[in-house]
Amino acid sequence: MAKNMKRRGNTKGTKGTKTTSSKGARKFVYFFGNGKADGNRSMKDTLGGKGAGLAEMTNAGLPVPPGFTISTDACNIYYANNSKLPANIETEMVAALRKLEKSAGAQLGSNAKPLLVSVRSGAKFSMPGMMDTILNLGLNDDTVEGLKAWTGNGRFAFDSYRRFIQMFGSVVLEIAKSAFEHEFETIKRGRNAKLDTDLDEAALREVVAAYKRLVKSQTKQDFPQDPMEQLRGARNAVFRSWNNARAQEYRRIYDIPDSIGTAVNVQMMVFGNTGDRSGTGVGFTRNPATGAKEFFGEFLINAQGEDVVAGIRTPQPIVQLERVMPKAYKQLRDITTRLERNYKDIQDFEFTIQDEKLYMLQTRSGKRTGYAAVVIATDLVKEKLVTPKEAILLVDPEALSQLLAPGFDPKEWKQHDVVTRGLPASPGAACGKAVFSSETAVEWSNRGEPVILVRRETVPDDIHGMWVSQGVLTATGGMTSHAAVVGRQMGKPSIVGAGELQINEHGKSFTVKGKTVKEGDFVAFDGLTGEVKIAKVSSQPSEILQVVAGKMKPSASPIYQRFNTLLEWTDKFRRLGVRANADQPDQAELAYAFGARGIGLCRTEHMFFGEGRIPIVQRMILADNEKDRREALNQLLPMQRDDFYGVFKGMHGTPVTIRTIDPPLHEFLPKREDLMVEIAVMEVKGQKGKELEAKKKLLARVEQLHEFNPMLGHRGVRLGITYPEITEMQTRAIMEAACQLNKEGLKVIPEIMIPLVGDVRELRDQKVIVERVAADVMEEQGIKIKYLVGTMIEVPRGAIMADEVAREAQFFSFGTNDLTQMTFGFSRDDAGKFLRVYQDRKILEKDPFASFDVPGTGQLVDMAVKRGRATRPDLKLGICGEHGGDPASIHFFDKVGLDYVSCSPYRVPVARLAAAQAALSVKVGD
Ligand code: PEP
Ligand code: MG
Repeated sequence: MAKNMKRRGNTKGTKGTKTTSSKGARKFVYFFGNGKADGNRSMKDTLGGKGAGLAEMTNAGLPVPPGFTISTDACNIYYANNSKLPANIETEMVAALRKLEKSAGAQLGSNAKPLLVSVRSGAKFSMPGMMDTILNLGLNDDTVEGLKAWTGNGRFAFDSYRRFIQMFGSVVLEIAKSAFEHEFETIKRGRNAKLDTDLDEAALREVVAAYKRLVKSQTKQDFPQDPMEQLRGARNAVFRSWNNARAQEYRRIYDIPDSIGTAVNVQMMVFGNTGDRSGTGVGFTRNPATGAKEFFGEFLINAQGEDVVAGIRTPQPIVQLERVMPKAYKQLRDITTRLERNYKDIQDFEFTIQDEKLYMLQTRSGKRTGYAAVVIATDLVKEKLVTPKEAILLVDPEALSQLLAPGFDPKEWKQHDVVTRGLPASPGAACGKAVFSSETAVEWSNRGEPVILVRRETVPDDIHGMWVSQGVLTATGGMTSHAAVVGRQMGKPSIVGAGELQINEHGKSFTVKGKTVKEGDFVAFDGLTGEVKIAKVSSQPSEILQVVAGKMKPSASPIYQRFNTLLEWTDKFRRLGVRANADQPDQAELAYAFGARGIGLCRTEHMFFGEGRIPIVQRMILADNEKDRREALNQLLPMQRDDFYGVFKGMHGTPVTIRTIDPPLHEFLPKREDLMVEIAVMEVKGQKGKELEAKKKLLARVEQLHEFNPMLGHRGVRLGITYPEITEMQTRAIMEAACQLNKEGLKVIPEIMIPLVGDVRELRDQKVIVERVAADVMEEQGIKIKYLVGTMIEVPRGAIMADEVAREAQFFSFGTNDLTQMTFGFSRDDAGKFLRVYQDRKILEKDPFASFDVPGTGQLVDMAVKRGRATRPDLKLGICGEHGGDPASIHFFDKVGLDYVSCSPYRVPVARLAAAQAALSVKVGD
C-alpha cells in the first residue's frame, strides 16, 4: 500500500470543476450515462474517487451502467442538518432518478420493467471495505415477480431479492448479519444443499419469507416495499457509515480528514449472476505487489460482486476469462489498457459481465506496495507513458522507507495473533529474544543471539543495547521520545508507547493481555504497523540497504537501480537541500550514500556514550572545581576530535553542523533511585570503604543535579554558559579535526551550532568562546578554515527575537522537537499518554511531534524566517527536528523558504522525494 498511503491536508477544493447547476444554484447530484457525465475526473473532492472515475469512464465512451452521484457536500449537509437532507437535494435526486430511468428504459418500482440500483459509498480517497454498499435496491414482493417475468429466470430474481433484504437488513435496519446467515443455513441444511447455488427458486422463495419474518420480528415493521423509501434509507445509511468506528479508525491511521465526507453513487444494476454467460471480477492493470506488468485479478462466473470479496467461492485467475469468454476478455483488456494510458497510472478496476456483455463498474489508481510503487513508476517512464516529473508524483515518499526495512515472511507472520499495538516509530520487521536491559542485549548479541530490547523507556545510556538489538520496544514515549528518535536514526525497527505492556525490568518479564513473556522468549513486531506478536518469525534484509552498505553490487540488484534512478530524478526538481542527522562516521557515510549532502545535526553528547567514555564524562560532571573538570575534558578532547574527523570525512566536503552539548548532565549519571538502593544494600551487608564512599559522593552530586523539570532546566546553551570549558573543548576538537583533514587535502565546512538559545546575549556569550578557540587552533596549526557559527531556534522566544538573534547567528536550524514541546507545552517524552485521546476526541488531528503543527508552531517558524532574513539576508535556514523526514512537514518547510531539511540517514530518500513533490506543489496524497 504505497500510493496515497498517508494523506494529509487538503480538504475541499473545486479547481476546474462545475459545482453549480445550469440555473446557478449549488449542485449536489451529478448524472452520468448515455456517453456523457455532469462530472469529470478532476472532481474527486465533490464526487469522491468512485464518482469521478464513473464520470470519466462515461465521458470516454466506456460501457458504464448509468447512474448519479450525490456529492460529498450533501454528506456534510446531512450531518450538519440533524441527519436529514434538505428538500432541494431530495428534489435534485428525484430528477436524476427520472433521468436514470429514462436512460435505463426501466422504472424503479415498476412490475413490467423494474429498475434495480446499487447504492455505494465513495470518498475522495478509497477506504476499502470501511463503508457500506447495498445492491439490488428496488426489489419488493411485486417487482421481484416482474424481474422473473422480464428475465425468464425465477431463481435469479429470488436470489437477488434475498441478497437485497439481507444487505438492507444489516446495513440500514442494523440487524446482525449472523441472524440472516442463520436463517439461510437452516434452509440450506433442510434441503441438503452444499452450495448456495444448489438452492432452487422454491428454496429461495422460502429464504425470502424467512428473512421478511426476521425483519418484522426485529424491527416490528414489515420490510419496506416502497422503492423510494428503500433508496432514501440506503443513501442515509451510506452517509452514516462515514462515521462508523472502522471508517474513523482507518481515517486516523491514513491521515484522511474527517471533514471531507463521502459521496453516494446510485447506479443501474447489471447482473453477473444471471447464469453461466455472466460473471463478475476485480483486477489490476499491473501486479500491485511486485509492480510487474501483468494483467492481474480474479473473477467468478455466475456471481455478484460481494461473492468475490466474501471468499465463499474461490475465484479464478483473470487470465482464464480469455478461455471462458474470449470476446469480453479482449474488450476488458482493451478498456483497461486505455484506462491506464488515460490515467497514466496502474488501475484497479471492477467489472461485471451480463449475458456476455461487459460493463465497467469502477476504475481508480491501484494501491500498491512500496516495492511495486518504485517498479511501476520507473516502468511507466521506460514505456514513455509518463515523464520523470510525472513519475515522481506517482510514488508516496513513505513507499521508499518500506523498501529499506527488513520484512517478515508474510505467510509466517499471518500465522500468529497480534497481542498489542504501539506507535510505529521506526519501520521494519524485528524478531528476537526479549531482553530487559542494554547490558543483557549486548551480552546476548555478542554470543550471536538476536534480541529485542524491551524497556519501559530508553535513555541515552541504552544506545549500545539499542544498536545490537533487532528492534526496540517500549511501553511509554511518543514519536519523538528517545527510543523513537534514535531508533529511526539507526534505522532500527522500533515501537514505542505500547501502553498495554506491563514491564517488570527487575523481574525480567512483561505481561500483556494475561500472557507473560520472560527473558529469552521470542517476540516479533512490525515497526511499520505497530503490531506486536509473541512468536518467532523469520525476516529478510532489505536488498537496497545491502547495496548502499556496499555488501551487494548495484548491478546485482534491479530494485536498487530503479530506486536510485527515481531519486536521481527527484534531485532535478527539488529546491530544498537534504541533510542528515548523524553523529557517527558510519551514519555519515550511509547518509551520504543515500544522497544527503551535509549533516544538519550532529548531537555531540551521543558521542559521550562511546566505548569507555562514560567514566570520563562522569568525572567531568562530578568535578567540583574547574581544574578537575578541565582535566577530564582534556581526556575527552582527542576522542571527540577523532569523532569529528570521521564525521567530516564521511560527508566528503559537504557542510557539517555540529551542536555543542545539549542534554541535562544528570542524563550521564546513574539513576538516583538505583544508587540509593545500591548504597542501602551495601550498608545492610556491612560493606565499608572507598567504593561505598564513592557511591555516596556520586549520589550527593546526582541529588545536586536533580531537577524537577529537566527539559526546562540546566541544558542547552545554559550548560555552555555555566561550564564554558565544555564549549572550549568541543570547539577545539572540531577545529583540530578540520585542520587535520585540511592538511590531508580534504575539504571541510564546519558549522558550529549553539542549542536552545532564546536571547541573542546567550549566543553572543558562546560565540565569543567559539571564535577565540577557533582562532587559537588555526593559529597553532597555521591553517585558515572557513566556518560558521549559528544557533538552533527551538525556544519560542528565540523565534520571536529572531531579528536580534540573527545579528550573531550566521545560520538558524529549527529544532522543531523542542519548539513543538515548548509551543504546545506538551512534554515530548510524556505526551504519548494523552495524545491518542486528543486524536480520538478530535482535539488534534495528528501527533504534532510526528507531523509538524503548521497552523500554530508554523507561525513561529514563518516569523523567525522573515525576521531573521530581515536582519541578515543571506541567513542560512534549515530544520533538524524529527519533522525534517516527514513528507507533509517538508511541504511546509519548502513553502516557508528554508534552505534544507535534515533527517535521520534512513529518511534521506523519503525527504528527497518529498522535497521534489513539494517543489512541484503537489499535496501529499492528491
Ligand atoms: C530539536 O529540538 O528539534 C532537536 C533537533 O534537538 P533535540 O531533539 O536533540 O532536542
Ligand atoms: Mg532540541
